[in-house]
Amino acid sequence: MAQVHTDPQTISGLIVEHMADVMYFDLGRYLVAASIMTAILWLGSRWLEIRRIQKRRAKPEDYRREFLSSLRTVFVFGVTTLSTLAMKQTGLIRFSFDSFGWGTLALQTVAMIITHDAYFYWMHRAIHHKRLFRNWHLHHHKSRTPTPWAAYSFSGREAVSEAAFVPLYLLIVTTLGIEYVGFAVFLFLWHMIIRNVIGHCGVEIYPRGWVDNPLTGWWNTVTHHDLHHSSGTSNFGLYFTWWDRWMGTEHPRYRETFREVTGRERDKPVEALGEPAE
Ligand SMILES: [Zn+2]
Ligand SMILES: [Zn+2]
Repeated sequence: MAQVHTDPQTISGLIVEHMADVMYFDLGRYLVAASIMTAILWLGSRWLEIRRIQKRRAKPEDYRREFLSSLRTVFVFGVTTLSTLAMKQTGLIRFSFDSFGWGTLALQTVAMIITHDAYFYWMHRAIHHKRLFRNWHLHHHKSRTPTPWAAYSFSGREAVSEAAFVPLYLLIVTTLGIEYVGFAVFLFLWHMIIRNVIGHCGVEIYPRGWVDNPLTGWWNTVTHHDLHHSSGTSNFGLYFTWWDRWMGTEHPRYRETFREVTGRERDKPVEALGEPAE
């Protein structure tokens, strides 16, 4: 039976003790993933430039806004991570870093990713509603031509809705009697930031034929989320194409745009189908 601490002093001690750790953990993920992607784009620009989805380029103020608001999101994520740890202390949720089976680790990680994809799709659809869009999601869409640094570029309200998934998910699985492997949550969080940074990188890195192959077409490409930023009315999914296909919200020219971007040849004029309307 896990030891449970519920007195306020223990909880406040936990907050003081772990505040710096969780900030490093949440900030570190963002900085590492966005920096590596930026380095790949810079070092590989000779090969990757031809795969740039939009003709429009992000401006220095876009990078600045994306970075600064991502820091705000990191703070919200840090507070949420602390709240999750406090809920663990009180016994409301259970996860542990004790011994685990590799099958359990894989199953729990995949289950969390698939559930998050559904949560994200519907939360994303909700904050696109005209009553919520301005105050919740407009900030993210200021990035018409996103960069890797837009991964966490949310308004404060959106950051809270994004961050709420982990404690909510763990609360539900604990209620169902499932004890989560802590490393599954770690892997989920790393997968989340890596896919997020890739989706905002502005350059199609997936190979030609990806969207037309039944083995890979269900996995979101960079073009998928880039079209969401340039059009704003389709492609709400985060990791997989399922929800957009089931709900009829996939961009009508998604596959066509992907084929055009990945089919370009060097030294030939580029017609960017993903060009945003001014
Ligand atoms: Zn959106
Ligand atoms: Zn985005």
